[in-house]
Amino acid sequence: MIVGVPKEIKNHEYRVGLTPAAAKEFVAHGHQVIVETNAGTAIGFTDEQYVEAGASIIATPAEIFATADMIVKVKEPQPNECKMLREGQTLYTYLHLAPDATQTELLVASGATCIAYETVTDHTGGLPLLAPMSEVAGRMSIQAGAHHLEKAQGGSGTLLGGVPGVAPAKVLVLGGGVVGTNAAKMALGMGADVTILDRSLPRLRQLDDIFNGTVKTVFSTVDAIEYYTAKADLVIGAVLIPGAAAPKLINKTHIASMKPGSVVVDVAIDQGGCFETAKATTHQDPTYVVDDVVHYCVANMPGGVARTSTMALNNATLPFGLALANKGPKRAMLEDKHLLNGLNVHKGKVTYKAVVDALGDKL
Ligand code: NAD
Repeated sequence: MIVGVPKEIKNHEYRVGLTPAAAKEFVAHGHQVIVETNAGTAIGFTDEQYVEAGASIIATPAEIFATADMIVKVKEPQPNECKMLREGQTLYTYLHLAPDATQTELLVASGATCIAYETVTDHTGGLPLLAPMSEVAGRMSIQAGAHHLEKAQGGSGTLLGGVPGVAPAKVLVLGGGVVGTNAAKMALGMGADVTILDRSLPRLRQLDDIFNGTVKTVFSTVDAIEYYTAKADLVIGAVLIPGAAAPKLINKTHIASMKPGSVVVDVAIDQGGCFETAKATTHQDPTYVVDDVVHYCVANMPGGVARTSTMALNNATLPFGLALANKGPKRAMLEDKHLLNGLNVHKGKVTYKAVVDALGDKL
């Protein structure tokens, strides 16, 4: 199989679909790997390293899309990339289609087989290809939140951990999954007063065990959201309904009830956001203010630490990617129901129920 790796073109996206080490694995399994020139240069993966790994360097994305049997990317294809996809070709990348009717229409029109990292499952019911980026985004959300609580960044001038004699900041984490747990770990490590809200009681029990009572766990209700949001210095939005648009848990009235200079980080913005006031921002211009509350809503947070993220992502995507290449997409998916769960669009049809439910009338 010819495996193609175009350079990512989304704003400030420096990650790359395959590291040189991952490219070497495909080559070792008898595949041909073609990588767009400078695809990984910005994060220290040079063209020479890819060539040493056995890959070929190609000058343009058009040549990659025209030649490859499988395209391996990181972010969802941009409109001009969607238009280069074709029937019989496999696209293996993050897609996040539920809030994105335009991309869905373009992928349907392409006829390609599109596998979304974020809906591939594992035997525990987890999302193994979303988990590494969620770990990164969760950890980063506290770094970003702490930074924007500083006065010069528009925040209230509150130090997350406080100091002896001054109480720490209150951090509210909405959703205690992978993002939420990693956010809580970082916030606790910095000495903050942390509360996690989740609507899954079994998950709240696990969190209570993991943190041994050092974070407060609270069942997620409208009442709890109202109460804890009004008290928080920093709120992290980390909820997920797999493959579907994020529920809007925090409305305008909740935001208006927050202290001036508090900060919200909507990590779920890539699924449409769980704050009514959230709109996607970029690493270049990451925040805006609504009702004196600083909003940080960067849709590709892990892109900010692109080297760590690329290596973490490749660790998770490589086994499935090799299965697709070694067996061919059809056999690989028929033999692995978890990989089949990643199939979102195939031969002109949306094949993932939650995307149909979210977009049905818009398609
Ligand atoms: P996860 O499935 O591990 O956790 C989600 C949690 O949300 C679950 O524990 C679930 O019970 C909980 N939940 C669902 N509905 C809830 C509600 N109404 N109230 C409270 N809790 C609720 O998911 P994750 O991997 O932690 O991802 C969380 C979000 O972060 C997703 O939207 C994901 O797409 C996003 N994400 C964004 C970035 C970024 O760069 N912005 C990066 C990685 C992940």
